[in-house]
Amino acid sequence: MEERLEYRIFTYSAYLLNKFGKKVFRVGLSTGKTCPHRVRNGGCIFCNPHTFTGEYQSKDLSIEKQFNDAIPRIKKACGDVQLLAYFQDETSTFGDIEFLKQKYDEALSHPEVIGLIVSTRPDYVNEEVIELLASYKVPVTIEIGLQSIHNRSLELLNRGHTFEQVEEAINMCGEAGLTVGVHLIMGIPNETYDDMLRTIKWVSPNKYIKQVKFHNLVVYKSTELAQMKNIPVYSIEEHIKNLGNLIPHLRGDIAVSRLFTSNIRRTQIAVDEYKGNKTQWMNSLRKYLYKHNLNQGDETEVIYDYRKFYK
Ligand code: SF4
Repeated sequence: MEERLEYRIFTYSAYLLNKFGKKVFRVGLSTGKTCPHRVRNGGCIFCNPHTFTGEYQSKDLSIEKQFNDAIPRIKKACGDVQLLAYFQDETSTFGDIEFLKQKYDEALSHPEVIGLIVSTRPDYVNEEVIELLASYKVPVTIEIGLQSIHNRSLELLNRGHTFEQVEEAINMCGEAGLTVGVHLIMGIPNETYDDMLRTIKWVSPNKYIKQVKFHNLVVYKSTELAQMKNIPVYSIEEHIKNLGNLIPHLRGDIAVSRLFTSNIRRTQIAVDEYKGNKTQWMNSLRKYLYKHNLNQGDETEVIYDYRKFYK
């Protein structure tokens, strides 16, 4: 049988196909607001804003202009897909509620947009924002930066929030009926494999979490992290091994929407630990999973059954 990563991991593309019954693609959008944590508190030690503004996104552009830039490229690359409006960078729930409503409404008014995704920090999740997001009649996902369940790690990263705040934000969103995704950073300095495993074991049984995005910690130039001496950074090979061994502990019906930090540009990184490219890393992970017979969910009560999606 063909050895496909999708047979071992519940990928986001399988999730989307299952949910919408057709091909959909995320259009990255920006509200235009800068992350308040970076402005007010110096930001997370790994954050370099130049690394996460995708080529489709641009500050100070109207939503219409961002669509006009992005959609033709998406259609050219992916064919006639439908779209999810994805407010991805910075803190996309920051701003007064009328401002946010105007941005989200404008995005959802596009005839090909069939859902909304908003990415944010837990301390910018509040009842007003949740009420607004829950009022839309299309599927809405809120992505929350959890990163780790260990408060010492969140402190080291200068995240500016605690694990308990993330837990509360997830519960509030889940109770309101929003689909919740979390971002996790693997390879935080001083976190061992067992520390990462404890984070996955907390995420896995959480009834509100439906999606996970894994990031391998990347040391970008012009960040506080890059100034730190002797940062213990995991190599990409170690990340692949860690990920391969963690995946069986992740509930089989949680969609994995990212496995590696995306769009790493060589010119922007401060340490040389990320040899190769994303296609090669995905391939190495796929081989590792097959070699060791590892599947998402194997160590949980919900085992991933790819046969539901791939006949
Ligand atoms: S919350 Fe996000 S955008 Fe803000 S400083 Fe941290 S990583 Fe950067």
